[in-house]
Amino acid sequence: MTTDLQRRQFLQRMVGTVAAVVVFPMLAKAEGVVKMVQENWNLTADEWRKRLTPEQFRVLREHGTERAGSSPLDKEKRAGLYHCAGCDLELYDAAHKYDSGTGWPSFYQPIRPEAIGTSEDRGWLGVRTEVHCARCKGHLGHVFEDGPKPTGLRYCMNGVAMVFKKS
Ligand SMILES: [Zn+2]
Repeated sequence: MTTDLQRRQFLQRMVGTVAAVVVFPMLAKAEGVVKMVQENWNLTADEWRKRLTPEQFRVLREHGTERAGSSPLDKEKRAGLYHCAGCDLELYDAAHKYDSGTGWPSFYQPIRPEAIGTSEDRGWLGVRTEVHCARCKGHLGHVFEDGPKPTGLRYCMNGVAMVFKKS
């Protein structure tokens, strides 16, 4: 007769084995990658060029702006997460995405406040609040105060600066 306890112990052993064989090495690998990027987020321009496409480099590393409506992520409506195209940090959840009608993927909040950083951007368009990846500092877009509830914010992002991973 199998008791609940035995079943639980069996399951725990199974989980332990799977964790040891599959998950832990993956975590160690992922951790290694994250550590590498965190330690070296200030890669040289050449190192970034090797990691990114020319358009990603232009936007993320040179504060460029993609042409409105050019990113397929603008119309992306599936559930999932938007990661930084530079260092793979999770930036936005599709649950917080909305159609701003601007032609750029727009969110009313980041996945967590510490995922992004902001800075004052004084340019020919006046003073705007620039948004970048908190980890690799890659430029993502800008945030404006004309977004929907509950935050009233519009995180206007360059789709090319992000990678969508559907859940
Ligand atoms: Zn990043």
